Amino acid sequence: MADRKGTVAIIGGALAGAATAWHLARLGHEGPILLVERDPGFARAATALSASGIRQQFSLAENIALSMRTLDFLRTASARFGAPTDIGFRENGYLLLASEAGRETLAANHAVQKACNADVALLDPAALAERFRWLDTEGVAAGSLGLSNEGWFDAMALLAAFRSALKDDPRVTLVRGDVSGIATRSGKVTGIELADGIRHACDSVVIAAGPSSGAVARMAGCHLPVEPRKRSVFFFHAPDRFPDMPLTVDPSGLYVRPEGDGYITGISPDPQADGAADPDDFDPDWSLFEDRIWPLLAARIPAFETLKLQSAWAGHYDYNSFDCNALIGPVPGVDGFFAVTGFSGHGVQQAPAAGEALAELMLFGEYRSTDCTAFSPARVAAGRAFAERNVI
Ligand SMILES: Cc1cc2nc3c(=O)[nH]c(=O)nc-3n(C[C@H](O)[C@H](O)[C@H](O)COP(=O)(O)OP(=O)(O)OC[C@H]3O[C@@H](n4cnc5c(N)ncnc54)[C@H](O)[C@@H]3O)c2cc1C
Repeated sequence: MADRKGTVAIIGGALAGAATAWHLARLGHEGPILLVERDPGFARAATALSASGIRQQFSLAENIALSMRTLDFLRTASARFGAPTDIGFRENGYLLLASEAGRETLAANHAVQKACNADVALLDPAALAERFRWLDTEGVAAGSLGLSNEGWFDAMALLAAFRSALKDDPRVTLVRGDVSGIATRSGKVTGIELADGIRHACDSVVIAAGPSSGAVARMAGCHLPVEPRKRSVFFFHAPDRFPDMPLTVDPSGLYVRPEGDGYITGISPDPQADGAADPDDFDPDWSLFEDRIWPLLAARIPAFETLKLQSAWAGHYDYNSFDCNALIGPVPGVDGFFAVTGFSGHGVQQAPAAGEALAELMLFGEYRSTDCTAFSPARVAAGRAFAERNVI
């Protein structure tokens, strides 16, 4: 538990950090809260570069619970912020397609999702072809469709709402700075140091540094298996418009969804080619589009054969190389050190709920909204992987 009157320094002021600060304040933290961000324009933050999807279709009940809690937050954002808040939620759903080899896993995941009251349906190829006329079902054995509660939203609008509310709170200081050191004494956090030499004393530190969280943990001599993994997103136009298209995931892992007057698409690199990225490398991997994405897209959605690629960007997943799941809770080894990170491609939809849960743990010593015990960073040293199968 954190000292209710103590100073909390949160490293990283994007969605995970801002949500944690906002919930700490809402739940009655009485001391100062420093929300420290080195790039307040968020040009390189995963939050800004995300595809911003939210889904219930995970393989673990704990991940479904986190996303559902965020969903509730999105639906009630205006009431929660006390001001009209348009976060542009588009409830088009997710459609996950499986080949024969993946059918059993899809069905097993479906059973977990139904047990969590997720609004999902399993469709056979005939039903898929009937419902989605643009889809070629060649090689598809089954599809899992989110009927409601899934889609995408404007993550930056949500971040702006959190940060604007925090600006008005006298307990909160939005600090511009690059944290370069974490001070400890007798195994306890005592402060942070910025690259310009300024120091802030504090009683607790929260790591919400996205892809840099592993590097930040090392500043206190701790290990968090979080590293940047580059992911490219491509925006294209096509002559045919399918505005009701769900975010569709091909058995190959390729995803595509409508965005503005076109579509966005992407695919994870081959596992052999996927490793820790250079933290300064934000160049899209153009060859990925040419070599893998376009052929797969044209085969699955024939209307996309004549697409026109318009632009692309790359961002970094805050990738947990241990088990591809969030790390939420105390970081072992140093008292007063907490993490809310490692979301591995599902952080936009989980950070708002994870920040709430961590704030509860820090203030009350227990989770009250979403039980995040399974996400404890202690599982890493214990070698207890808690692996999510549906990482897109
Ligand atoms: C291409 C792409 C697509 C994605 N699609 C989805 C999706 O569809 N759905 C989904 O749920 N998630 C998705 N994600 C993942 C999601 O974007 C992230 O998990 C989420 O945004 C993490 O938020 P965060 O606040 O933890 O990290 P970030 O948004 O990365 O913010 C971390 C902040 O910490 C700051 N920081 C780091 N180190 C320091 C330091 N030393 N001192 C001060 N500040 C520091 C950084 O400047 C940054 O602003 C996607 C990610 C990418 C890259």
